[in-house]
Parts: sequence; structure tokens; C-alpha cells
Amino acid sequence: MLIVACIKQVPDTTQVQIDPVTNTLVREGIPFIVNPYDTHALEEALRLKDRFGCTVVAISMGPPNAEATLRKALALGADRAILLSDRVFGGADTLATSHVLSAAINKLHTEVDEVGLVLCGKQTIDGDTAQVGPGIASRLGYQQLTLVGHIENLDLSAKRIRVSRKLEGRHEIVEAPLPAMLTVVRELNRPRYPKVPMRLAAIEATVELWDNQTLKLNEQKIGLKGSPTWVSKIFSPERVQGEILGDGYADPEGTAKLLIEKLLAKDMLPI
Ligand SMILES: Cc1cc2nc3c(=O)[nH]c(=O)nc-3n(C[C@H](O)[C@H](O)[C@H](O)COP(=O)(O)OP(=O)(O)OC[C@H]3O[C@@H](n4cnc5c(N)ncnc54)[C@H](O)[C@@H]3O)c2cc1C
Repeated sequence: MLIVACIKQVPDTTQVQIDPVTNTLVREGIPFIVNPYDTHALEEALRLKDRFGCTVVAISMGPPNAEATLRKALALGADRAILLSDRVFGGADTLATSHVLSAAINKLHTEVDEVGLVLCGKQTIDGDTAQVGPGIASRLGYQQLTLVGHIENLDLSAKRIRVSRKLEGRHEIVEAPLPAMLTVVRELNRPRYPKVPMRLAAIEATVELWDNQTLKLNEQKIGLKGSPTWVSKIFSPERVQGEILGDGYADPEGTAKLLIEKLLAKDMLPI
């Protein structure tokens, strides 16, 4: 069984600035990282490989330099890494992105082995739409389990999965048949670090390139031409004034309580 981990290369947002004239992200000279949620998706795929011996395929749609992202996945233990890259894929919105990703997953399913799970991050830190995972699931007709914080049970012979979804202030246990697409949250696991020999091996390893000659998709449905959405404006919201709670010197316990109540009300503390 194949487990596909979808990983996207994103600009390191701690260093991202917005061009005040064009209202677009300044990408020049910005270091790129693997989308943080996707590191948890990949880690879970690797843990399932360790437990069940599944094959892990990491895929990413992006420019040629996204190869570096996939090399990191190989260093961590992915069996295959596929870069979906072609000029005609460029400028894609979530609809066109999920079209290309699902076509690649379908190709793996029909030509290599049955796909049991597709793991995605809950969202990216640049586009932030959280639409691509569900887009892949609906195109492929897979079950979609979003915001997964824990895999409670995976029964490969019965082809069923039970997960815990992290919702606001509560958790929900959901069971579904495979194949399924999961979007994952940070609480799912703690990603491993690559070991030095794996890192060295990954330098030499092959990142496969699939362009549109490989996928043969209708050009009206991919890239800019296949994207009905566009971003008309980007701006940073004005910062709201900070709030000082209680008196931390006179009443540290009461102040800590107030702070915890505030954080809980905003769902900013794990329960
Ligand atoms: C600042 C900004 C704003 C944008 N706003 C919009 C918008 O409002 N509407 C719109 O349609 N598009 C928008 N886009 C374009 C959008 O980023 C792309 O379509 C992108 O490829 C996927 O959307 P996302 O980043 O929101 O992913 P999300 O849907 O947030 O990603 C969820 C998960 O899907 C997987 N995934 C997503 N993209 C890829 C990929 N290229 N390769 C492999 N796995 C992937 C990852 O596992 C990821 O964690 C925006 C882009 C930027 C940079």
C-alpha cells in the first residue's frame, strides 16, 4: 500500500514582507522551508511505514527549486520523491493545484500500487486556504478527515481508519474506510531529524520530475488558465493594542488564572 505525503515549499514567513506598491509577497532573497504542517504529515507517513511497511511517496507541485524540499523528505525516509513541475502548472489556485496533485496520485494508484492514505498539512503558511487537501479528496472520491490530531487505529486488512479530529474546544472521533485523505495538525506527532547517513544518501538520490508530458492534463484546467481565483489584494492588518491583565507582581496566581482563562477562551491552549 502507498501512503502519499503532499508537501509544499513555502517562504519562511518570519522573514516575509509585503511589497507596499504591488501588494504581493516579496519572495526574492527569502529562504524557503517545508510547510510546517506538512512535516507532521510526512512524519506520520513515516511512522506508518515503520509499523506496517507501507511505501511512502512524497509529492510536491512547485518550481524546480522545490526539489530541495523533496530531498529533505528522502533524507527523513520517504521511499520516492516526485516533483510536479512545469511552466504550465505555474500560477495555480487551489482548484488547479488539487487537480494536478490528484492526477499524480491517481497515476501512482493505477501504475504502481494501491494508495491507502494521502496525508496533507491542515493548511500552508503562505496561501493559508486549507482547500487543497479536501480538493484532492473530492477529486479522487476519497474519504476526507480534516484536522487530524491522532490516528486512533488503522486496520489495513479491514481497510478502515479511526482518527481523532481537533476541533475548537473538543475532539471528535471519526471512523472511515480507506482510501482516505487526512489533513493534520501539529499535535499529531513530533517530526524526526534526519540522520547523517540518510542525509548524505539523499544528496545522491533521485527526485523524479513529472511535467505535463507525464501527466497529460488539459492545459485549460491547470496553472493560470485553469485558475478561476486570483488574489486581488494582500495587506497586513493593523496591530490591535495589547492588553495588560491583572497585576503580576501583587497577585501572580490570580494573574496567571486570568491569562489561562483568556487563552482557553481563544482556544489557544491544548486541553
Ligand atoms: C499569499 C497567498 C494567498 C493565496 N490566496 C489564494 C486564495 O485565496 N485562493 C486560491 O485559490 N489560491 C490562493 N493562493 C494560491 C495558493 O497558494 C496555491 O493554489 C497553492 O498551490 C495551494 O493553496 P494553499 O497554499 O492555500 O494550500 P492549502 O490548501 O492551505 O494546503 C493544504 C495542504 O495541501 C498540500 N499542498 C498544498 N499545495 C501543495 C503543493 N503545491 N504541493 C504539494 N502539496 C500541496 C499540503 O499538504 C498543504 O499543507 C494564494 C497564494 C499565496 C502565496
